[in-house]
Amino acid sequence: MQRTIAPLAEKKSQTLTVDVADALPRLVADPVRLKQVLINLLSNANKFTPEGGSITLSCRLADQDTMLFSVTDTGIGIKAEDQTIIFEEFRQSSDVSAGEIEGTGLGLAISKRLIEMHGGSIWIESEYGTGSTFSFLIPIGVPEKPEPEMFGETTERSKSKTAFVVDDDHQFSSILAHYLRQEGYAPIQHYTGADVIECVLELRPDIITLDILLPDQDGWEIIRNLRSNPQTKNIPILVISAIQEGELALSLGATDYLVKPVRRKDVRNLLRRLFPPEAEGQKVKVLIVDDDKDISILLKEMLAGDHYEMLTARDGQEGFNIAHREPPDIILLDLMMPGKSGFDMIKRLQAEDKTAKIPVIVLTAIDVTPEQRQFLEKTTVGIMRKTRLTPQSLLAELRRLEQGN
Ligand code: ADP
Repeated sequence: MQRTIAPLAEKKSQTLTVDVADALPRLVADPVRLKQVLINLLSNANKFTPEGGSITLSCRLADQDTMLFSVTDTGIGIKAEDQTIIFEEFRQSSDVSAGEIEGTGLGLAISKRLIEMHGGSIWIESEYGTGSTFSFLIPIGVPEKPEPEMFGETTERSKSKTAFVVDDDHQFSSILAHYLRQEGYAPIQHYTGADVIECVLELRPDIITLDILLPDQDGWEIIRNLRSNPQTKNIPILVISAIQEGELALSLGATDYLVKPVRRKDVRNLLRRLFPPEAEGQKVKVLIVDDDKDISILLKEMLAGDHYEMLTARDGQEGFNIAHREPPDIILLDLMMPGKSGFDMIKRLQAEDKTAKIPVIVLTAIDVTPEQRQFLEKTTVGIMRKTRLTPQSLLAELRRLEQGN
């Protein structure tokens, strides 16, 4: 490959640097195709970079099972509005189609197909007038679901669910898009906070992933806007951000959250949690134990739908009796109740083999003492404050539990 490109670079007095990380694992990919993509990117870099510029090819691991290749140049760059169209067949940036440099506009479209055929993804970051970086991710192993056809209409959109990916970090966005694609989603990447609502209204994605720290708009504001619009309020929002504000995200209406860095496994688990494959048919039995009728009604409303079957009890005694008679999958337990308290009920549950393993989530209106907290941490799977309870936070907690983490 270097043999093909080096003479071209030399002709224009360009510096060509190849930067390959040490100890890379073996990449299982079609070598002819991979070379074709790299040559396309490198020859574009050569073609669109003036005399004396520089071109760098780098290769390193993005995560333990994905390799990242990048070709960076100091060339003419590509305007933001042209950055997506150049991957389409017969399309070129406006400067190029205006005439000076020739080409067919097919190379990148073919490269994109080849990379996607390998289960990977390709994208560009560029500053107009300064240079461009084309990067692609490619799984190291054999792709799980190779696309059978290279050309012809892609059926990806019609088959799969759409994920609207909002993140200003192009590289992270593409890695995430890559993971989503592997989970059967068709990702649409969006790099700013502006227009999120408009795009969501138009695209009607099945899920939205949202970074909070966007340069132009506050992610929290976006969640609020999405949640207050009747047309977008039910679309699941997954906050994927570097900040550890998961609880806040849930209380504002996010459906779930991940903290960066994110591995493929995390995305997979999150999606499985949200859309369990066996969701239909198998109900999760939840026992709600609370003396306050309004709370029981509220919880029932929060869990309304086909997935949960609900039982209610008004104190620890009745709660224990029901749990013993027909053990539920999960117990939501108030602590302070007249008669037998939540603490009493936990002790009774613990004392019986039949009920000892039922996961309990405590819902409390009061601050617990350090001793009580210690007891609850040992005997329950979660403590939630009633004042902070939202449908999202409760559902997220239950889904985590159902998934076993
Ligand atoms: P071709 O190079 O044959 O026109 P490609 O599909 O390879 O076709 O590229 C499409 C368009 O993308 C190019 O015409 C050019 O407008 C733009 N392009 C590709 N690579 C670069 C680059 N490194 N720098 C600037 N523009 C580029």
